[in-house]
Amino acid sequence: ASGYSLLRDPRHNKGLAFTEKERDAHYLHGLLPPVIMPQELQEKKFMMSLRQYQVPLHKYMAMIDLQERNERLFYKLLIDNVEELLPFVYTPTVGEACQKYGSIFRHPQGLFISLKDRGQILDILKNWPEKNVQVIIVTDGERILGLGDLGCQGMGIPVGKLCLYTALGGVRPSACLPITLDVGTNNQKLLDDEFYIGLRQNRAKGEEYAEFVHEFMSAVKQNYGEKILVHFEDFANHNAFDLLEKYRSTHLVFNDDIQGTASVVLAGLIAAVKLLGGALADHKFLFLGAGEAGTGIAELIALHMSKQTNEPIEEMRKRIWLVDSKGLVVSSRKESLQKFKLPWAHEHEPITTLLEAVQDIKPTVLIGTSGQGKTFTKEVIEAMSDLNEKPLILALSNPTSQSECTAEEAYTWSQGKAIFASGSPFPPFEYEGKTFVPGQANNAYIFPGLAEALASQVTDENFAMGIIYPPFKSIRKISAHIAAKVAAKAYELGLASLLPRPDDLCKLAESCMYSPVYRNYR
Ligand code: NAP
Ligand code: MN
Repeated sequence: ASGYSLLRDPRHNKGLAFTEKERDAHYLHGLLPPVIMPQELQEKKFMMSLRQYQVPLHKYMAMIDLQERNERLFYKLLIDNVEELLPFVYTPTVGEACQKYGSIFRHPQGLFISLKDRGQILDILKNWPEKNVQVIIVTDGERILGLGDLGCQGMGIPVGKLCLYTALGGVRPSACLPITLDVGTNNQKLLDDEFYIGLRQNRAKGEEYAEFVHEFMSAVKQNYGEKILVHFEDFANHNAFDLLEKYRSTHLVFNDDIQGTASVVLAGLIAAVKLLGGALADHKFLFLGAGEAGTGIAELIALHMSKQTNEPIEEMRKRIWLVDSKGLVVSSRKESLQKFKLPWAHEHEPITTLLEAVQDIKPTVLIGTSGQGKTFTKEVIEAMSDLNEKPLILALSNPTSQSECTAEEAYTWSQGKAIFASGSPFPPFEYEGKTFVPGQANNAYIFPGLAEALASQVTDENFAMGIIYPPFKSIRKISAHIAAKVAAKAYELGLASLLPRPDDLCKLAESCMYSPVYRNYR
């Protein structure tokens, strides 16, 4: 290959870092100015220019451009500056990017499969250049963060999440494939937008939708084999639960909104209980939002408490209450409830508002999974702190605009009593001389993993600041620990294929992780 195309291949390009010898060997002379600039200096330069952008979306665009130009430099930057850069490649900025995806669109990322491709999805998969794909993240764009139906423009989410698989989890980029299934959109604003990049039609549903997804799922297995992981992301709940159920016996599937969120939140709760004392089963939980995230978390909490207490899970579920858009989920509503809400329809008189539900149920833990911002009002937080010495408040909805309350509101309205974590990041907040650091309860920690392994990574130092999640700074170490726990389980179940079992699984996990450091080309 010519030097010219080497410079235009993001997977191999090193820009000014090509050495004299490499420039000799790959016909690069003249195509680059004379200076040789090591990766560290490139990194310093890029961070300096990135910090000059005031608008988050501009930082996002600069990062994506870098990814398309020089992949290793992109990941080096992301890994070395994870806390600073995560909010731009992921929540909250990725939400705005999806809303404006058509207008900012420059270079396609991932694979777009639309209804027009029916009957030839397998051929479309073959257009992707990588043959060794191990994980697919797929969305149909119907429930992007708390922002609703963004149709084809939901692509920002699988692209962004897979960046995290690599930067945080250490999965090599070539193993990752982001896919958007374009089945139309019901978002009129997008349908009217001249820059919209998707099919201009309403969403396919029923049989038509099911057949299309089925062709996709079959093609995926045919093309990549049995072991391909299909991670579903940001599907609307009327499809998400069904798809998970339908494909769990034939494919390696994972729904991050239902299952990933559940592990991360359980991890936070396990850590919080260490901070508060007592056992998880001593607590009472109230959710605002009874969809994928809410019911997914609720079920995992119930399962965990049932394991700890040896009580049947049905008993444990009774300590968990959910409020949806119509009020408290109760048995008298059974006729009209979606299937996934039925386990939570306990005996109780109807209640319509969250405030009344808090006053009546008297929860110790309040969890927001509604996708609706500003729903944890002053009255709600005050009621929680009247009821509890240390109320545990998790505002999980993304992006920041949809967060049920801000960190500042949680700390001020509870007069510093709340233990708070949120789905999107908030800066530390000082209240009456004490600094509170809100944890980020986000599934970026676990794709997929184990809650207890994550909880065990929270240090005493973290606890002292009221944090129930370890800082993202050490995310690669955390990921290796979680991977080691997953591997240990695989050995325990006799599913592991690397034999004999290595002694130090954590070290093994670390050694398998992708490193973005430039390689030498000879
Ligand atoms: P979903 O399945 O659509 O569920 C949303 C739920 O909220 C539904 O039960 C809905 O009620 C309820 N709801 C909507 N408006 C409400 C209101 N005004 N008052 C009370 N309840 C209301 O969505 P999801 O997948 O669970 O996601 C919800 C949010 O969680 C999103 O913002 C998403 O970004 C966030 N999330 C965060 C993480 C994380 O890592 N932190 C992970 C996953 C999801 P009905 O059932 O009556 O319609
Ligand atoms: Mn999601």
